[in-house]
Amino acid sequence: MASCAAVTDSIEIIFEARAAYIAGRGLMHDAAVLVRGGLIVDIVPRSATADLSCRRVETELLLPGFINAHCHVEYSHLRGCLPAGVPFPDWLAAMYDAKRHGTDEDFAAGAREGVKQLLAGGTTTVVDSHSRPATAAILAESPLRYVALFEMIGLDDARAEDAMGLLRQRLAAPSAGRCIASGVNPHAPYTVGPALRARLRELLGERPELPCGWHLAESEAEMEMLASGAGPLADFLDSHGLPRAFETAPGCGAVQYLEREGLLASCDAAFHLNFPAEGDAAVFAPPRLIVHCPGTHRFFARPPFPMWKMLSCGANIALGTDSLASGESLSMLKQLRLAASAFSFLSGVQLLDLATRNPARWRPLAALKPPVGIIAPGACADFASLTAGPGVLADLREILVHPATRVAATFIAGEQVA
Ligand SMILES: [Zn+2]
Repeated sequence: MASCAAVTDSIEIIFEARAAYIAGRGLMHDAAVLVRGGLIVDIVPRSATADLSCRRVETELLLPGFINAHCHVEYSHLRGCLPAGVPFPDWLAAMYDAKRHGTDEDFAAGAREGVKQLLAGGTTTVVDSHSRPATAAILAESPLRYVALFEMIGLDDARAEDAMGLLRQRLAAPSAGRCIASGVNPHAPYTVGPALRARLRELLGERPELPCGWHLAESEAEMEMLASGAGPLADFLDSHGLPRAFETAPGCGAVQYLEREGLLASCDAAFHLNFPAEGDAAVFAPPRLIVHCPGTHRFFARPPFPMWKMLSCGANIALGTDSLASGESLSMLKQLRLAASAFSFLSGVQLLDLATRNPARWRPLAALKPPVGIIAPGACADFASLTAGPGVLADLREILVHPATRVAATFIAGEQVA
């Protein structure tokens, strides 16, 4: 009893929730989440805390802070600037121009805006791919927890050399802010040439702890290029005077291609994987991850993602926003809503898993102590506080999809950040 009293005496904040999503199991009504030192100490009925004197935060629906498993904050200034609903290579050509013509300040402003929108949409942990040093600094100054993936593109030897030099500098820099880990995002099979592949094999062989994610099997055009070496992506490269990533067509899918190149063992995450081959789901079982981005999927008017097949074959699937260059929102609540409308078979718990527990099983996050993505004693006090459109007594799925449900506030380590 004495130790219980000691615990409750030193509580700094009580989050009083009309309903809280506890331990990934379901809603507890009239809950009190006790927080000290940025961590959840205990969860008790609200009525049991009447005698405690400390700061109280009243919330309607308390969820774990969302984990956004794929984002590029530095492209947030491009919202509405690139064509939607067009074939992927047409978008890529517009993106290529936007990247060439944008200034460092444009991308820094994008990163700052991106961070703001992530926080406003309930994200407390983000896996962000970026290449600009300013973006790394902006993330480090933000309250977000993040995994920083350095995006690498290099089709010729000179670009490969440059990209590796910048990566080594980045990896040598001291960890700052709430950085969980730094790693690498070799962009995609069609933008990583033989010299860069060789250097990545060497680096990832030496440093197996580095998180690594690729954009894989995202578009029909990528699949065509892998299968035959031809098609609109090959035309894009030719028309921009860029060399091919491979001299002869691999004649296989994206995951098999990485395996042949000796780069699959080090690949922790597949971004998109819209066109999986047989067996790919099992490859991306925990602690690996497939990241589905509902907003980007809708932006390109893509055929339905094979969510059920991949889940039922053992894949670990999370949601991401991708960037505002190919989507309208960095709100994870909006991604959950889009996922709910695309996958009517997913329950409220399964939907929330896509933004909380599934990404928390990803290797770079799974070892985190204290853990994220869950409201449980000992976990980080990271929360998305929602107003529940249909009320907290409604079914969880119904609450998430209701148009009047919104993120009222976001908390990281117990402190309000949006
Ligand atoms: Zn992406």
